[in-house]
Amino acid sequence: MDLYSGYINQLIEELAGLPGIGTKSAQRLAFYLINLPKERVERFADTVLKAKENVRYCKKCYTLTDQELCPVCADSRRDTGTIMVVENTRDLAAYEKTGRYEGVYHVLHGAISPMLGIGPGDIRLKELMERLAGDVKEVIIATNSSLEGETTAMYISKLIKPTGIRVTRIASGVPVGGDLEYIDEVTLLRALEGRVEL
Ligand code: ZN
Repeated sequence: MDLYSGYINQLIEELAGLPGIGTKSAQRLAFYLINLPKERVERFADTVLKAKENVRYCKKCYTLTDQELCPVCADSRRDTGTIMVVENTRDLAAYEKTGRYEGVYHVLHGAISPMLGIGPGDIRLKELMERLAGDVKEVIIATNSSLEGETTAMYISKLIKPTGIRVTRIASGVPVGGDLEYIDEVTLLRALEGRVEL
């Protein structure tokens, strides 16, 4: 027997499908949303839709943005000769928060994972290689220290090495499998400053 109405169940299911949300949290959120004033729910739904409709990839670094170029790529003071490769936009945001990195980024949108069937062609690697045709001095690989992140780092380094461009990897000490987003700024800066040649 279903305890909740079909609509509530559907809402719980949608919420439970979001990353990091278990069934219990999904139930709590569903009832929270239902108890909100209608205007608040409309504003929330509208915000999700507007974000979906207006957010796109930066033409240069492929981070998510609502302009043709993201704020980093649009900033002429940034050093375009140094490219930091990250797995996603959240990782970029984490490094930006340190306020100390002056180069630009390249967002892969994922990492190579043979187990999940994600190959080099499924992330923005081709786009990275195209950018290297310009005047690039160093590529800093800042993928996560998970198995996938390490596999990706090795793969990229092998691709870039023959071009003669300097390839470095952020220092370990970033927790294994840890999302960069949850690591404090001091740790990130230390990882960046202690980067090693690949
Ligand atoms: Zn950009």
